[in-house]
Amino acid sequence: MAAKHISWAEPFKIKMVEPLFMTTRAHREKALEAAGSNTFLLRSEDVYIDLLTDSGTSAMSDRQWAGLMLGDEAYAGSRNFYHLEEAIHRYYGYKHVIPTHQGRGAENLISKILIKPGDVVPGNMYFTTTKLHQELAGGMFTDIIVDEAHDPNSGFTFKGNVDLSKLQGVINTYGAERIPYVSIATTVNMAGGQPISLANLQALREFTSKHGIRIIHDMTRVAENAYMIQQLEEGQGNKSIAAIVKEICSLTDGATMSAKKDALVNIGGFLATNEWDVFEEARNLVVIYEGLHTYGGLAGRDMEAMAIGIEESVQDAHIRARVGQVFYLGHKLLDMGIPIVKPVGTHGVFLDAKAFLPHLRQTAFPAQALAAELYIDSGVRAMERGIVSAGRDQKTGEHCFPELELVRLTIPRRVYTQAHMDVVAESVQRVFEQRHSVTGLRMTYEPKYLRFFQARFEKLPAA
Ligand SMILES: *Cc1c(COP(=O)(O)O)cnc(C)c1O
Repeated sequence: MAAKHISWAEPFKIKMVEPLFMTTRAHREKALEAAGSNTFLLRSEDVYIDLLTDSGTSAMSDRQWAGLMLGDEAYAGSRNFYHLEEAIHRYYGYKHVIPTHQGRGAENLISKILIKPGDVVPGNMYFTTTKLHQELAGGMFTDIIVDEAHDPNSGFTFKGNVDLSKLQGVINTYGAERIPYVSIATTVNMAGGQPISLANLQALREFTSKHGIRIIHDMTRVAENAYMIQQLEEGQGNKSIAAIVKEICSLTDGATMSAKKDALVNIGGFLATNEWDVFEEARNLVVIYEGLHTYGGLAGRDMEAMAIGIEESVQDAHIRARVGQVFYLGHKLLDMGIPIVKPVGTHGVFLDAKAFLPHLRQTAFPAQALAAELYIDSGVRAMERGIVSAGRDQKTGEHCFPELELVRLTIPRRVYTQAHMDVVAESVQRVFEQRHSVTGLRMTYEPKYLRFFQARFEKLPAA
């Protein structure tokens, strides 16, 4: 945990405000019904405090807004592309860069380039879009994260770590030549925003080098992961966030980035690689899916905002306040006796819906039902990270039944105040007090891909 004597107070003041919408319970009941009990289908005007995601929801700084005015909207060779490239070289250290419209654009490219049908991609837990792109390219994702990551009550510090004996098992079964790369996320979103340690990543680097296997880094929240290393890993406390971020990147061969998270922009991402051949291939493919390799689906101004956001994201004072606010909410909920994933993650607080609503079977979608209930209570919007997000088994067509059935309260960066966090905690507490009256849901519409985004539900009658 962050040292108690260090204040996490925001290292900025507020220059512009954006009014929020306050609604009545009756209004919210109607809105949720129209949205098929899926918080992704609500209109944002019907939401009071929006904790759906930390993706693209950050507040930009005055410098970033000023950067928008410096957009060079040339089709090719925009000045802003070179600024972005410089920022990536300086702060992350990767050699070659291809901008993409967001993280999944980069995932599409790298999956198509490196994965052959029949390949296996081990990773420290799946992420929805990452896994889908691996599958669409003919690969199969396999989980090699430590067991502790699947247990919401394990207080293990580095739940994002890889279990090397699991990776050895995958090599024994399939052979190293069928593993194009190991996919490593910093931090692990689906485990509750949990970090990987530098020591574990170093051990993984050594192990994969021996077998000639790449590491591709899903660096969406690399600065937050670096903060946990600085605070909690032995011997790392004196390094700056910027130094740790660069060290993490140096242990991997390439990266996909959703700049909508750590890098403090509303849209954007990139693919980075140290391998010339992979870069060449990506430069060929990007024109099919995103745009020319010097804009990749982004406006020049977006690339400028991203270049500035990358620099701001690795400042110690920024990251301490960002994670400090998440910890504030998490520890408040723990003090109230609310079941959440422990330890508190870096980008949000994850309610343990199985423990919150033990009377519901997993097929009644407890996390989805809990997110719906929270919205009705206060207009706070959260999202499901459980059986709906896990989707169906590719082969059997049955639901996947993940251990973790969670509701994610995701905190946008630099957007809400401590008082907003208090409102959220009080609402969770009210729903917790009435939890026995919460009934489950029935799915009435199920999309084929990434069903959690657009699925619709109906409330089951009280038993
Ligand atoms: C958001 C996210 C992605 C995908 O990025 P998008 O910008 O949403 O396409 C990939 N991996 C992780 C861990 C993420 O959180």
